[in-house]
Amino acid sequence: MAKNREKAEKELKSIKEEVIACQKCSLYKSRVLPVIGEGNHQAEIMFIGEAPGEQESKKGRPFCGRAGQVLDELLDSIGIKRSDVYITNLLKDRPPNNRDPLPEEINVCAPFLERQIKAISPKVLCLLGRHSMRFIMEKFGLKDKIAPISQIHGQIFSVSSLFQDIKIIPFYHPAVAVYNPLMLKTLKEDFKILKQFK
Ligand code: URA
Repeated sequence: MAKNREKAEKELKSIKEEVIACQKCSLYKSRVLPVIGEGNHQAEIMFIGEAPGEQESKKGRPFCGRAGQVLDELLDSIGIKRSDVYITNLLKDRPPNNRDPLPEEINVCAPFLERQIKAISPKVLCLLGRHSMRFIMEKFGLKDKIAPISQIHGQIFSVSSLFQDIKIIPFYHPAVAVYNPLMLKTLKEDFKILKQFK
């Protein structure tokens, strides 16, 4: 294995161990299983949701409940295999009753996500949900571009620095399409933009 890949694998293993042991916020108290992330460690495309739901925290896998079925359908619609991308969340533990993440939970948990992004080094970050959108856009210097998701869904924001070129694309959260076929149509349209990164 190339040196960089070896380093990335080591880092991802260490993130996993640290998340499993993490007690930095109160969410660990109601943890069933933490949801670290899954997929291709060399993915070009990375999806970032908000936090695990009930199914996810039972199985320890991201997007394996109803929103996950929508995500699978969206990936299918553009001919991308789930195993080719990497899927994770801003928070690694489920907030009680799926409430919104608290700022202090984001503060302690998001460094794991930042390290996952660095280790996997994808070309595209797909943001699913407003908390991951806000966090990532601020981190990548796009604070002034943050707007309601209804205005910026499916738009590519390119960030270039000395260290990386990365595309950031906010999407509606797949959960919005669970009961609303019109939103499924919008999401399918938006996902077509990912075909160029296959
Ligand atoms: N919603 C999310 O944001 N992430 C999951 O893993 C599941 C549902």
